[in-house]
Amino acid sequence: MGHFSFYAVQIGLGRYIDVQGNPAFVNHSCGPSCSIRGTVDLVALQDLPTGTEITMDYSMSMWADPEKMECGCGSPRCRKQVVSFDELPSDFQHECINKGLVSDYIIEAMKSERHREPVTEATLPGIPTFPECTPWNLTHIKAIRAFTQKYPPYNDFCAMTLHGLDDGETLLSNLNNNLLMRFTDPTKGKRSCTLLGDNQISGSIADLLSFEASQPECQRAVLGYIPEEIAKSAPGNQWEEDRNIADYVYATEDILNASSVSLRARHRLARRFMRMHPQAKIETLDLTNSSVCAQLESFACQVMLEKGILERGLLVELRALMRCLGASSTLGCIGIGLTMENTLIGFMIVEPLGRKYYHTPFGKTRRDLAGAMEFLMIETARFMHSTGYRFHNDQEDLGLPGLRSYKMSWTPVRLLKKYRLL
Ligand SMILES: [Zn+2]
Repeated sequence: MGHFSFYAVQIGLGRYIDVQGNPAFVNHSCGPSCSIRGTVDLVALQDLPTGTEITMDYSMSMWADPEKMECGCGSPRCRKQVVSFDELPSDFQHECINKGLVSDYIIEAMKSERHREPVTEATLPGIPTFPECTPWNLTHIKAIRAFTQKYPPYNDFCAMTLHGLDDGETLLSNLNNNLLMRFTDPTKGKRSCTLLGDNQISGSIADLLSFEASQPECQRAVLGYIPEEIAKSAPGNQWEEDRNIADYVYATEDILNASSVSLRARHRLARRFMRMHPQAKIETLDLTNSSVCAQLESFACQVMLEKGILERGLLVELRALMRCLGASSTLGCIGIGLTMENTLIGFMIVEPLGRKYYHTPFGKTRRDLAGAMEFLMIETARFMHSTGYRFHNDQEDLGLPGLRSYKMSWTPVRLLKKYRLL
């Protein structure tokens, strides 16, 4: 299994050439014997003994290509799935680029993505230039969404996270056409700041650090929640990965097709739930209806109380839920309910994002119903997939061991890594 034939080589965005003759049957391998050099030349990576199969890594010449193929090439480094180069984890992308394995046009495309920022219009309308700042409010949604959709959807910059966690002291600035956010870290209670953008990052971080150093001790913010792309473009600083706050990204297709052993286990739980509760139903919820929102809030509260003590994290979450429901139409969130005989037994609140992503800051099911959460996750993926969404950002695990193994079992295609400054 896992071998498929290759007839066209991608040589540019949406441009392919038809390969005629011998190379038309080069199979893919995650540990290939050959590689594309330049754009169309295929070269051996080492001396190949007679009889060696000519293989190449298709991902090294695919860009912005939605096509995905399962792989069982048998290489010890098999990635199990062949995806477009832009969907590979960035560490691996860099490794391949350094080894010279990647098609020239992809390297060009990556450079122009990085530099495509037009300076012709205001980058962040309504957000003042650093060191001036403005407290977060709902009127900033449009500017923030227009800006953040150029980057991977780190949940910290999503409108629902910003609005839900805002304590009145989330401050926004435009620092050299990058978005600077200063806020209270919801887990540590400390002042933090983070940055998103691709303009003069090293210089911007230096400006930010000297500004923080000039602040009184009690107001000084630490640099954390820094997206991987930002940390990489400021290599002069000492970064440490903060694994506990990495966002999990799942492909809806993987969720729906149960494409891994652990996903199959999740599907079995969901099916068992449906067998035991055939009357359970998925429905979209009208979040503009205040009695629906009140019902969601009391349900969430009840589920949390059953967990035991209502500790700080849960209070933060409950408050965030109430704030987001209170602004649901401005935030554009979608409510998906799981009901049984007209009684709510679970719900998920979804924020649709750019780049075919959605995230689910809130999801609860009744704790005594095994498989209900699995059923809700899968059905939410089905609903979002049917409306064109392809990736689910399921947020961080906060370093909780049970939560980490649970999230890993949904088989993420990517973690959105974040860093802090040492
Ligand atoms: Zn493979």
